[in-house]
Amino acid sequence: MDYLPLFLDLKGQNVLVVGGHDIALRKVRLLVSAGASVRVVAPDICDDLIDFLRDGSHQLIHRAYTSADMNDVKLVIAATDLADVNGEVSSDAKTRNLFVNVVDGADQGNAIMPAIIDRSPVVVALSSAGKAPVLARLLRTRLEGMVPHGYGRLAELSGKFRDKVKAQFKNINDRRYFWEKVLGGPAAEAALGGNIAKAEQIMADELDNHKEQTLGEVYLVGGGPGDPDLLTFKALRLMQQADVVLYDRLVSPDVIALCRRDADMIYVGKRRNRHALPQDDINQLLAKLAKEGRRVLRLKGGDPFIFGRGGEEIETLTAEQIPFQVVPGITAASGCSSYAGIPLTHRDHAQSVRFVTGHLKDGSIDLHWQDMASGNQTLVFYMGLLGLPVICQRLIDHGRLSNTPVALVQQGTTQNQKVWSGTLETIVDVIKNEEIKPPTLIIVGSVVSLREKLNWFQPQPEPNPEQG
Ligand code: SAH
Repeated sequence: MDYLPLFLDLKGQNVLVVGGHDIALRKVRLLVSAGASVRVVAPDICDDLIDFLRDGSHQLIHRAYTSADMNDVKLVIAATDLADVNGEVSSDAKTRNLFVNVVDGADQGNAIMPAIIDRSPVVVALSSAGKAPVLARLLRTRLEGMVPHGYGRLAELSGKFRDKVKAQFKNINDRRYFWEKVLGGPAAEAALGGNIAKAEQIMADELDNHKEQTLGEVYLVGGGPGDPDLLTFKALRLMQQADVVLYDRLVSPDVIALCRRDADMIYVGKRRNRHALPQDDINQLLAKLAKEGRRVLRLKGGDPFIFGRGGEEIETLTAEQIPFQVVPGITAASGCSSYAGIPLTHRDHAQSVRFVTGHLKDGSIDLHWQDMASGNQTLVFYMGLLGLPVICQRLIDHGRLSNTPVALVQQGTTQNQKVWSGTLETIVDVIKNEEIKPPTLIIVGSVVSLREKLNWFQPQPEPNPEQG
């Protein structure tokens, strides 16, 4: 290890920053957020820096740096863009046995300012020992996503309970076990979700042996249209902590693969030749599992509140007073249109968009066709493949132009995505001899013509092993 990572308490301590412009300002902001008293020295100090340090116990010294500026400081930052000034500051600091950070010159100094992820009081610091700062920053971006913003709240709350937990569990292993349980459970979830009062209550209950937490929780989570990269951070987090997962046909295998490995997986969806659970039984099963104290993930394709029956499933839970959370997902219309290069609205084409169910019932679809006939709107039909001929015909009958462009998107956002396009008049013929795999989405409107220019996604289908 070239450098020892260390967190410094700088509250009320003097820190010298040599330099008066952007780079100096960035460092000054950090130092001030850690409570330091900053002494800025530079012949020319920018207005933003002057403004920023206006209040508080800071010093702005408008002249060239001299080594006496280092009197009574704890730390030195050389933040000019002049190599010789930075070099002089650095060597003076070392002579005085002070730590010095040289911006953009790690090898000149002996302290590094890391890239940080700030969820105070939790702070993650990252460094590449000055060798690849951009790489450290890229890594930080990835970690940003993995550390939910509520982490700070959770840490604050844990801090509050620390002494009580210590008093109750004398043995360090028991303490650790308690924290692991609490920080991976409903209390943590409540804190991350912003409900501190509830989190505090659960933590207090967990501590109190007599009030054991017996009720589980249900997470109704949108798994998005297929590409696992389109999951939200929250979805992924809940997927990784669930005890049991109820999923259906629409959730892509790549998404299912991201659920916690030792969770029980229950298939409840409809698929040809496979028995599906009636909706009522799913609702009841969610409630039953949660009552057993389990963390139940109800994983749905797309967004649970868009043609997902998510509302029905949680109604049962409300009736039984079972706690739940709903996590939105990217709905098929959004995912498919992005990955097919078809903006759903566009100033020159469509001022509104409608999400419509195209589900056939007894050979017809009961919809307000007249409302959908005007040309300045995009229509997106879910569950519409079987009804496609009816949809096209009804729209034409009610006055939508027969040359209105139509796209059919198969397995959008996945590596099996395929898109066929035509018009209200031709699309049925276009797909007549195609082997189409569900799910498919139908997009109707002149925005479809933009795909010619905007198509960017090139799926790389895996070779089908059955075809040798
Ligand atoms: N809750 C889901 C929709 C469920 S209805 C959502 O928000 O996306 C099921 C219909 O969604 C399918 O019949 C199909 O029309 C559409 N669908 C879902 N995922 C899709 C995908 N990856 N590609 C194309 N259509 C999709």
